[in-house]
Amino acid sequence: MGKPTGFKEFDRKKVPWRLPVVRINDYDEIYTEPREEQLREQGARCMDCGVPFCQSNSGCPIDNLIPEWNDLVYNNRWREAIERLHKTNNFPEFTGRACPAPCEGACVLGITNPPVTIKNIENAIVDRAWAEGWIKPEPPAERTGKNVAVIGSGPAGLAAADQLNKVGHTVTVYERADRIGGLLQYGIPNMKLDKRVVERRVDKLRAEGIHFVTGANVGENVDAKELLAANDAVLLACGSTKPRDLPIPGRELRGVYPAMEFLTANTKRVHGDSLNGEFISAEGKDVVVIGGGDTGTDCIATSIRHGCRSMVNFELLPKPPEERADDNPWPEWPRTFRVDYGHEEASVKFGRDPREYQILSKSFVDDGHGNVAGIRTVHVRWNKKDDGGWEMEEVEGSEKIVPAQLVLLAMGFVGPEQYLAQALGVETDARSNFEARHGEFTTNIPKVFAAGDCRRGQSLVVWAINEGRGAARAIDIFLEGSSQLPAPGVTMGTAMTAAV
Ligand SMILES: Cc1cc2nc3c(=O)[nH]c(=O)nc-3n(C[C@H](O)[C@H](O)[C@H](O)COP(=O)(O)OP(=O)(O)OC[C@H]3O[C@@H](n4cnc5c(N)ncnc54)[C@H](O)[C@@H]3O)c2cc1C
Ligand code: SF4
Repeated sequence: MGKPTGFKEFDRKKVPWRLPVVRINDYDEIYTEPREEQLREQGARCMDCGVPFCQSNSGCPIDNLIPEWNDLVYNNRWREAIERLHKTNNFPEFTGRACPAPCEGACVLGITNPPVTIKNIENAIVDRAWAEGWIKPEPPAERTGKNVAVIGSGPAGLAAADQLNKVGHTVTVYERADRIGGLLQYGIPNMKLDKRVVERRVDKLRAEGIHFVTGANVGENVDAKELLAANDAVLLACGSTKPRDLPIPGRELRGVYPAMEFLTANTKRVHGDSLNGEFISAEGKDVVVIGGGDTGTDCIATSIRHGCRSMVNFELLPKPPEERADDNPWPEWPRTFRVDYGHEEASVKFGRDPREYQILSKSFVDDGHGNVAGIRTVHVRWNKKDDGGWEMEEVEGSEKIVPAQLVLLAMGFVGPEQYLAQALGVETDARSNFEARHGEFTTNIPKVFAAGDCRRGQSLVVWAINEGRGAARAIDIFLEGSSQLPAPGVTMGTAMTAAV
């Protein structure tokens, strides 16, 4: 513990984002350069708790050694801090930017004071390590002669590939998209995670000997059974990619899109790709985003950068409380009202937070030419039932039409596409995820493992890293009989999986 009285001396101070009025004009990251002195003060606030809830229980899903690197940053020992950070996290630059930080929700200081700015400190450690040239390719000294195919290049697949390569297995990552990264590449927008940050890490993995094959859609243009026969193990890490639809009248109208179509096309445009009519523009349009979470926020922020005319975000549930509710005590993830970057930008641009709560969409309105012109909505109230559950009731007389020439559906995902599982005979669970237990990651098919959102359902980058690391260890044990690779814990964290 660097400074025993630090938590009394210093207030929580976050590294600020760039001003909304400036950042809405570009796709650069929203973050500003942190001041070193500020980070050291924030590190000094850490109490080095006997039971560090930040790194255990409902805190960090990959057991990051948070109090250790808080202390190292306070003491200006940045190089040791990145070594500690890399022990548990393959990609701190992804979590440091995009993680909602369950560690901060669980921080003991948070019982009485605002928690330590753990996420800012994590990001600063890894950014500094890249800038100083401390992160370099480190290929394994020896190869085992075993081949592993990883299907899907999101954080789960990349973490597994990294871990398996470290212990000498020959790893090939197959990705159906044209770029590596999964939702790090074509989900989370540049403003939150610059694609050069993703590519820099992928280049390092490549230099360490991992093979990457893009445009390889296993189960479609790559034969899944041949791939299985040619490898000693196969990891399915293909994400939860089926969007939840809104099958109400008018869904077929032009102008109603799943969020991912909109976001993917936008990222390709930022890359400078030619889009052959794929680009969906929000320019000059009244936009309604249906659904909250990270995807909804990203749609809001992207539409604003296109120059939309107005922005409304529908949420079906009530507005969360400003403070923790009685049934949501520390150290659970606080289910409180938050203003994310997209909400802040909408408030600055349009003078009001875009979120409207307890709104049910009943049908899409046709402009007479097959284009969406608006949404018929009704207000709902939530009544508690005798059995403790909730029942939704439409409020009579609250119907209205909200104008919209672009509607983005951001209501989450309902599981992985099934063709790959079918090609290999992999069983699925009741939610259509690939059936495999956390910790074992084995499916019903010998040699086939599953990890990440395709196994657990839509979740978070940090959980994908947890699963990729865990699956790598399981595969290593399967191939070698034992493993030096660490086993990430099974913390709770489930309350957060619906946040996407
Ligand atoms: C818009 C959006 C924003 C998000 N923002 C955040 C955030 O800010 N913070 C956070 O923690 N989480 C966020 N998430 C969630 C997070 O991105 C995911 O939980 C995480 O990426 C899951 O990792 P994964 O490796 O399991 O799958 P994915 O990242 O989905 O990667 C799966 C990959 O597999 C590929 N694939 C699928 N099938 C095949 C096949 N048959 N052959 C070859 N390749 C295949 C896909 O093309 C994809 O690239 C967000 C999600 C979305 C949609
Ligand atoms: S819970 Fe908070 S104060 Fe305690 S060790 Fe973790 S970061 Fe430090």
